[in-house]
Amino acid sequence: MAPTSMTAARFYEVNEPLRLEEIPVPEIQEDEVLLQMKAAGLCGSDVHIVFEGVTPTAFKPITLGHEPAGVVAATGRRVEGWEEGDRACVVPGLFCGSCQNCVMGFPNICLNRKILGIQREGALAKYLVVPAKNLVRLPESVPFTVGAIITDAVATPFYAMTERVALRAGETVAIFGAGGLGLHAIQISRLLGAAKVIVVDPRDDQLERARNMGADLTINPAETQPVEAILEATGGLGVDVAAEFVGLQQTISQCVESVVMGGRVVIVGLGPDPIHIVPPTVFVRKQIALLGSYGFTKRGIEQLVELSASGKLKLEESITHTFPLEEVNTALKYLHEKIENPIRVAVTL
Ligand SMILES: [Zn+2]
Ligand SMILES: [Zn+2]
Repeated sequence: MAPTSMTAARFYEVNEPLRLEEIPVPEIQEDEVLLQMKAAGLCGSDVHIVFEGVTPTAFKPITLGHEPAGVVAATGRRVEGWEEGDRACVVPGLFCGSCQNCVMGFPNICLNRKILGIQREGALAKYLVVPAKNLVRLPESVPFTVGAIITDAVATPFYAMTERVALRAGETVAIFGAGGLGLHAIQISRLLGAAKVIVVDPRDDQLERARNMGADLTINPAETQPVEAILEATGGLGVDVAAEFVGLQQTISQCVESVVMGGRVVIVGLGPDPIHIVPPTVFVRKQIALLGSYGFTKRGIEQLVELSASGKLKLEESITHTFPLEEVNTALKYLHEKIENPIRVAVTL
């Protein structure tokens, strides 16, 4: 029997620490499962919510956290295929499955989408209630912390590189921004068979990490003009694919300028400024494709779990810091202030 109350990290106001509170364990509906949480990844969005207030939550107080992994503790009456004790990570966007976007194959932009920890009670608690259809089975060989970060930090660049720009073996790729998403994009590009992975970032320590993760060439834009360097590294032609993980006008424009005739650009970085790129005379004649990429699909998360279980994708090193739930505010501080330069910070439960 699951207990009736649990500890949860609750968000009340911007720039206030999360409060660790005892709240009732939520009840499950007939198509839901109760997950006993084992790990939750923290994400840039959590920093935005807590310290910047740029991502408003649907209600307050709310339990934050949208990268969950845990063990099934109870199942609703109509749930099939899941039993107590099963290990799982969770697709953090709840999708309806019946709106136009879901039917068209884009559950990531479901019209009725609810994200855990933003529009619905989240993962930074001892227990979490989610629809059974959001669960992805986690084999013993994949640690809970890895399962947790797969659900967003890895799944987001995976969706961009596989579903959106469909990077193919032998192609060249430029990645702008070597934060958590960009670093994982390097690994994914290598897995997909990219012939050359070029990474642009103004932080030398991130560029070193990029090289460790398999980047063939790294460019610091403070020292070298990135478009010129990319053209030079590709025989003057440009890369087949450029991926933007920053969300700035300048880097988006540089992506477009860096691609070959018929090249594809995918933007993952979020930002407030309008996109200004090359004139249509260039954009049209070069037949450039410019794509936005938001979130991920359940299928992508399943594939990443498989890649991780088989050892083809090594993600343990991405989790540079872990903290118990009781230290969640320290964990957020590490991420916000980039203390010890974390890649991903996970909370264990
Ligand atoms: Zn996130
Ligand atoms: Zn939908």
